[in-house]
Amino acid sequence: MQYRDFGNSGVKVSALGFGAMRLPQERIKGKSQIKQEKSVEIMQRAFELGVNYVDTAYNYNEGESELAVGKALKGWRERVYLSTKMPTWIVEKKDDYRCFLEEQLERLKVEYIDFYHFHFLNEDNFKNIVLKYDLLREAQKAKDEGLIKHISFSSHDRPEFMKRIIDIGIFESLLCQYNLLDRSNEGVMAYAKSKGLGVAVMGPVGGGRLASSGILKEILAGSVKSTPELALRFVLANENVSVALSGMGSIRMVEENVRVASLSRPLSNEELQTIETFIKERRKKEEIICNMCEYCQPCPSQVAISRIFELMNYYRVYGLKEYARKQYQDIGVGTLDSGEKDEREKADACTECGRCEEQCPQKIEIIEKLKEIHQVLG
Ligand code: SF4
Ligand code: SF4
Repeated sequence: MQYRDFGNSGVKVSALGFGAMRLPQERIKGKSQIKQEKSVEIMQRAFELGVNYVDTAYNYNEGESELAVGKALKGWRERVYLSTKMPTWIVEKKDDYRCFLEEQLERLKVEYIDFYHFHFLNEDNFKNIVLKYDLLREAQKAKDEGLIKHISFSSHDRPEFMKRIIDIGIFESLLCQYNLLDRSNEGVMAYAKSKGLGVAVMGPVGGGRLASSGILKEILAGSVKSTPELALRFVLANENVSVALSGMGSIRMVEENVRVASLSRPLSNEELQTIETFIKERRKKEEIICNMCEYCQPCPSQVAISRIFELMNYYRVYGLKEYARKQYQDIGVGTLDSGEKDEREKADACTECGRCEEQCPQKIEIIEKLKEIHQVLG
């Protein structure tokens, strides 16, 4: 296993971290539950192989993930760094910070948490919750009392927002998304490192998406066995990454990922160049140049224009056919991440009013593209 400095925290973390959001589950009385014993076995195998960072959250599997992590840490607490997250978006008053922290310490059966994150920090909840209820002061108090060792945050917001949060100067590590498909955080990761923060990344294999690509596995055919291996090696080759969190649901997966994270040099400069060139060429040939600016919204028919283009890019550029089709079918079904009902529409709801095309700075022929895409993904 390779180990890396976690910013200026004084901690050396394993390049591979255990993300406890994909632990094996079973259905009991119609409800999905984590297989606790199996999960403990998988996590402890990872610890035996040198993984020393485990990451969970208050809301993962309705609290069952934290319970499983707590059990897995038995006998390992002194050798493994524990990261978990406070559900920022449901805080309603100042005292909630401490209430969540105490509940989590109890669930995890530990005296302290190494890296305690403000989970899912964004422009809105930072202003209307964190600042409003003075939660940074609460975090500092918890740190002074030794209940948490380091103050951290995770975010899916824009890099500019994350940079502003880093500049506050209280945070010691950042957790953000980074993989072959989504490199938009490369700049903020470098910035975080330059400011002495540890950088943990989630989704190194795109939440499992990349595994289904028939195209990506050809890039380094011969030297890399599978697409997930290529994806993990790509993430680990970035020197600004301290630890890559992988959601591992089996011992086989743990052993395979540990093998990859033990390579002293995940990719050579030549291999990185081959990947860059390959992706550049695919994008040049196949990509719909939508920059997700959303100037085309609101569409009177609620067509999810940019999301539909994004899925088509996954399909064409990266060969994620199954994933793109499934995600397309899910548009307008169930609820969004925000908890609101998903009222978006697929491409066939377009009435060809033309409003979106007038607004699009990229001059995309949206109406025609939507028709084509519905043929492929619909
Ligand atoms: S042309 Fe179609 S997608 Fe564009 S705004 Fe009108 S209904 Fe929406
Ligand atoms: S306006 Fe054009 S570039 Fe912007 S999100 Fe809509 S389709 Fe994409």
